Amino acid sequence: MAVGKEILDALHALVDRDITLMHICGTHEAAIARAGLRSILPRKLKIVMGPGCPVCITPQGEIDAALDLVEQGCTIATYGDLLRVPGSKGSLESSGGDIRVVQGVHKAVEIARREPEREVVFISVGFETTAPTVAATILSRPPENFSILSCHRLVPPAMAWLLAQGEASLDGFLLPGHVCAVMGYEEYERFPVPQVVAGFEPEDILLGLLMAVRQVREGVHRVDNAYPRVVTREGNVKAKRLMYEVFEPFDVEWRGFPVIPASGLRLKPEFEGYDAQKKFDIEIRHVDKHSACICDKVLRGIARPSDCKLFGKACTPRTPVGPCMVSHEGACKIWQLYESRR
Ligand code: SF4
Repeated sequence: MAVGKEILDALHALVDRDITLMHICGTHEAAIARAGLRSILPRKLKIVMGPGCPVCITPQGEIDAALDLVEQGCTIATYGDLLRVPGSKGSLESSGGDIRVVQGVHKAVEIARREPEREVVFISVGFETTAPTVAATILSRPPENFSILSCHRLVPPAMAWLLAQGEASLDGFLLPGHVCAVMGYEEYERFPVPQVVAGFEPEDILLGLLMAVRQVREGVHRVDNAYPRVVTREGNVKAKRLMYEVFEPFDVEWRGFPVIPASGLRLKPEFEGYDAQKKFDIEIRHVDKHSACICDKVLRGIARPSDCKLFGKACTPRTPVGPCMVSHEGACKIWQLYESRR
């Protein structure tokens, strides 16, 4: 922690004006909240969370599509986090369907093999961290009664959207260490803003903040790597190749965002036999959000969970109104667990 203290002292010495940095990673938010970092940072250094929780940014229309698959008699295999995320007509948990919680796509394939009489659909959420594993599974030619509902998203197009809007007045970004471990950080170099790839220990995050603040103070922008023990500029070349062998980018809506160009991943036509949307003729529709939930603003870094009038009252981890209170990577749930205890 002596190292952390040195970094913290350097940060306090450098931050003499308002600086806002955004991270795009639920694991970063959890680490920041768990270690109470916001309470020891310079008062003028603001850390906001962006759209870094893959469950939270899955729009209601995709939850409704999963519910449509339940209505068609499919067995749904999904991460536990997704069970209680509300769509416009309920959640998977309340659907009464055959819903199996799995730890990953391989478990969903196992179910399909074990129960060939059932149609098993894996709800495939996640950023670039999970898509390569799903791609490898599809390439292994799982049984024909297996398919996926692809809800994957790519991080850089959302950053481009946020920068184009300028609504959060961002001075820089902490880049997600897990995503960059797969993708590298070359593709982030096009953004004209300070960026630092950061790991997940408190010292990793403090170092990332310090490197970002230094860039801001020097008036320069580049991508620095504060997580070199895991992340390289090129990333995992094999994983990237697998991902783009099976998936192709397409324009898609994020919860709290409009349609963002080339920000989603869908199966290429040669793999459409595994595409649940095509196999079961499911349409994904836009749905207006719950009127009082401000998840959209939280995910864009322009509101904090505690700005929501439902936070900790009508909306709690036991009674979630929006997805940010459901997922363990959601800012509202993280703040409810850690920040409200301080
Ligand atoms: Fe939405 Fe609940 Fe968060 Fe408010 S506290 S923004 S209702 S998830």
